[in-house]
Amino acid sequence: MGCGQNYIGGRWVEAASGRTFSVRNPATGELLGMVADAGREDVTRAVEAAHGAFPGWAALAAPERAKLLLRAAALMLERKEELARILTSEQGKPLKEAQGEIEYAAGFVTWYAEEGKRVYGETIPASVAHKRLLVIKQPVGVVAAITPWNFPAAMVTRKIAPALAAGCPVVLKPAEQTPLTAFALFQIFEEAGFPAGVVNLITTRDPSEVGRELVENPLVRMIAFTGSTDVGKLLMRGAAAQVKRISLELGGNAPFIVFEDADLDKAVAAAVSSKFRNMGQTCICANRIYVQESILESFATKFVERVRQLKMGNGLEEGVHVGPLIDEGGFKKVCAHVEDAVAKGARILTGGAPRTDGPFAHGHFFEPTVLADVRKGMQILEEETFGPVAPLVPFRDEAEVIRAANDTRYGLAAYFYSQNVSRCIRVAEQLEYGVIGANDAMPAVPQAPFGGLKESGFGREGGREGIEEFLEVKLISLGL
Ligand code: ADP
Repeated sequence: MGCGQNYIGGRWVEAASGRTFSVRNPATGELLGMVADAGREDVTRAVEAAHGAFPGWAALAAPERAKLLLRAAALMLERKEELARILTSEQGKPLKEAQGEIEYAAGFVTWYAEEGKRVYGETIPASVAHKRLLVIKQPVGVVAAITPWNFPAAMVTRKIAPALAAGCPVVLKPAEQTPLTAFALFQIFEEAGFPAGVVNLITTRDPSEVGRELVENPLVRMIAFTGSTDVGKLLMRGAAAQVKRISLELGGNAPFIVFEDADLDKAVAAAVSSKFRNMGQTCICANRIYVQESILESFATKFVERVRQLKMGNGLEEGVHVGPLIDEGGFKKVCAHVEDAVAKGARILTGGAPRTDGPFAHGHFFEPTVLADVRKGMQILEEETFGPVAPLVPFRDEAEVIRAANDTRYGLAAYFYSQNVSRCIRVAEQLEYGVIGANDAMPAVPQAPFGGLKESGFGREGGREGIEEFLEVKLISLGL
């Protein structure tokens, strides 16, 4: 195979149009490869291949499907270094984070290989003696998975692994910025021996045309999407025409609350990792850091000290903590948020500007930044910044901060630090978010359900709930 090809029906093929597009390293601008620029007819072919593979795949016993998944997971771990390098080259995150992501991504495959064996049904007592009621679960059918660029490996396996374990064939469309990791994963799926048509890969520069076919093709029975709220709404509207199943993991606006009874050092370290990992480009990164007034100064001093130690650069280089932003669009948004906040009275405690000198000349680099005196009405508190900027917002008491934290149309992840166990339960229950990190900045794991409330979407990925998304419930009422 070559990077210029899609994987359809067990074969590596060019786009029907013969077109390709380039993938570049966001730290250096270097050309990494050319990939197929698929159009509508390529998608139709992939969906038909998946549909053709469905009966055979669904009919396999779960342990048989598990064998292939476990083989794929083992290959991912064997090739962790190589996969991490590809991931960092096209996405920019530090190599250590990329290695962690490959392990995390393989974790979904291993976990769902096993969970596929536990798709239990039930029997229900009937109302009359001559009937028996049986409930079984069956795979929903062909799944279209659309994934973002911020986790080029983990977002893929978080969708594909439960779908495959449930018995569904998949068509994956990765983000146009990061298709190379998906290629490498599909080489592994091929090697692991998945039957032709069970896993299909479509890359494109024009996601709207490909997306339309995935939504409109009646053979696609489910769409699993992670990305922006705007595109999620578009897909949901499209899916409504066929009452197609959909799960949406959309934007966030995560509050990170530090109460005066927190372990301050732990809270500082967690705020740094939650805010600056992946350059602040995750939908669960702390977006607003609320600090109780009585500890604001000591928190800010310690926090700024840690942020100043973060080394920015090319993620492939040793010792780098913060890489480039993914592209021009992301970079402009970060600049705009900082300018807006400063214009409205925020103070820059550290950072605050783009870097274009020397090694930063060919990427979109923005210094790790901390802002103080951030107040309601600034864009940075309303929208997801998706960049390395930490706004510090003071608060007086618990009721006030809960109101502020919930005052958003999003509801994905929220964090808080407190050593008071009653407060932990109270606050966790009141925060309107699908994922709560209580004294924990890293709440996402394969075995637990992850997903949002409000405009952050619906459906859950991970855990027992994650496989249910790909299963239909069927009642068999049997007369004797
Ligand atoms: P971001 O702003 O983080 O790039 P997007 O929602 O634009 O988020 O992208 C997430 C995924 O959705 C990517 O794979 C992208 O190609 C895809 N996408 C973007 N627009 C559409 C669309 N109109 N239909 C289907 N998929 C789309």
